[in-house]
Amino acid sequence: MTSVPPAAPVCTTLPCALCRGSLATVVGSHDRNGAALRTVACEGCGLVWVDPRPFDSRQFYEQDYRRAYKNTFEPRPRHVLRAGRVALDRWSRIKRFLRPGMRVLDVGSGGGEFSYLLTRLGLHVVGVEPNVGYAQYAQREYALDIRRGFIGDVELEAASRDLVTIWHVLEHTEDPGAVLRKLRHVLAAQGLLVVEVPNIEATCQSPRSTFHAAHLYHFNVATLQALASCNGLQAIDHRLSPDGGNLTMVFRAADKAAACESRIEGNHERVTRVLAAHRPLRHLLRPATALRTIRRLAGALDERLTLWKGKPTGKVVLDELYDQALRLGRVPESFPALRLVGWAAGAVAAAWWLECELVDDAHQFAWTTAQGTAIYFALLASALVGAWLVTRRRSPKDMRLRLGGLSLILALMPVLH
Ligand SMILES: [Zn+2]
Repeated sequence: MTSVPPAAPVCTTLPCALCRGSLATVVGSHDRNGAALRTVACEGCGLVWVDPRPFDSRQFYEQDYRRAYKNTFEPRPRHVLRAGRVALDRWSRIKRFLRPGMRVLDVGSGGGEFSYLLTRLGLHVVGVEPNVGYAQYAQREYALDIRRGFIGDVELEAASRDLVTIWHVLEHTEDPGAVLRKLRHVLAAQGLLVVEVPNIEATCQSPRSTFHAAHLYHFNVATLQALASCNGLQAIDHRLSPDGGNLTMVFRAADKAAACESRIEGNHERVTRVLAAHRPLRHLLRPATALRTIRRLAGALDERLTLWKGKPTGKVVLDELYDQALRLGRVPESFPALRLVGWAAGAVAAAWWLECELVDDAHQFAWTTAQGTAIYFALLASALVGAWLVTRRRSPKDMRLRLGGLSLILALMPVLH
C-alpha cells in the first residue's frame, strides 16, 4: 500500500467561518454530479466548506432547490410519507426534551411534516421556510403558522421560544455562525436548540456523494460544538445516527460566548484522514453498502404499498402515520416491506418443497403419513404467524385481512393442487 503525501495548503477566497483562517487543504474537487466544485478543510480548525461559493443561494433556495432535488414545486404523497417518517425519527431523538405547550420554532420547516407532528403533540409551532411552494403547501394543508423567508430575514421576538429545531439547514447557510447567534437570541431562559447536520466523517454514503453545491459547510462534532460555543451556545448532548451519517446536537444558551479565534488541535488531520480513507472500491465492498441499497429499495416498495389506494392528501397520509406512532408511543417499524419480501420468499420455497414431498410421481396427492400432516400444519401455523408479525405494527385492517387470506391460500396450496 502506498501512502498519499499530504496535500499542500491553498489560500481560500473566503475566511474560515470558525477560526477566521485562510489556509486550507483541498478535500474535494467535484460534486456528486461530477461538476467542478472545490471543497476545502481549514488547517486551523478542520471546518470544511465550499470555496469559492458556487451560486446565488438566495434565488436557489427560494425557487429552484426543491425542483432541482425532486423535480416538483409541492410535495407529492410519497414525499410526504417519506418526510413524515423522517419527522417521526427526529421526534424519537428529542422526545425526552418535549413538553406539551412548549413554544417551538422550526427552522427550514419544508413541507411542514415535522411542525405538524409537534402540533399534534400539543406544542405551539412557528415554522420558517424560504421555499414558496413548500411554505404555502404547509400553511394550506396543515393550517400551520409558517413565516416565509430566510431565518436571517424573518422578524422573531427575543427570548420567545422554548425550543428551536433546525434540521439539515445549517450546512446550506452562507453564515452559519450568524444563524446560530440569531437562534440563541430567540431562545427563552432554559430554552433548547436542536441542530442536525450531515456528519462530514460519515462513510455510509458513496465518497462520490460526499460533496455537493447545496452544502456550503460541513461539520463534525468538534467544529459544530466550537461554532455554537463562540456564538453563545453550550452543548448538552450529541449523538450520531446509527449509520453515522447525521449528527444531532442539543444546546442551551450559555452565560457568555467563547472566543471564536481558537484553533482545534488535531481536527484538520482527523477530518482529512477520514476523507482520504473513504475510497469508492472499499465503500462498495462494505456489507453496510449493500444493506443500505436494500433498505432503500424496500423503502420505495413500502411507499408504493402504503399509497397503493390512490393519491391521498398530505394530511391523510400524515394523520394515518402519526396516529399509529402516537398510539404506540414510538416510531412504527420503518421498512416492514423488507420482512414481507423475505417472508413471502420463504413461504413460496416451503410450499414448493412441500409439494415435492407430498405429491407422488403419478401426480397423486400422497397425504398418508403423520409426518406430512405435521409439516402441513406447521407450515399453516408459520404462515399465519408470519402474516401477523409482518402486518401487526402498521397496516390498516383491510390490508391485514388481505395478507391473512393470502397466507392461508399459500398454506393450502398442496391441498388445492
Ligand atoms: Zn478554521
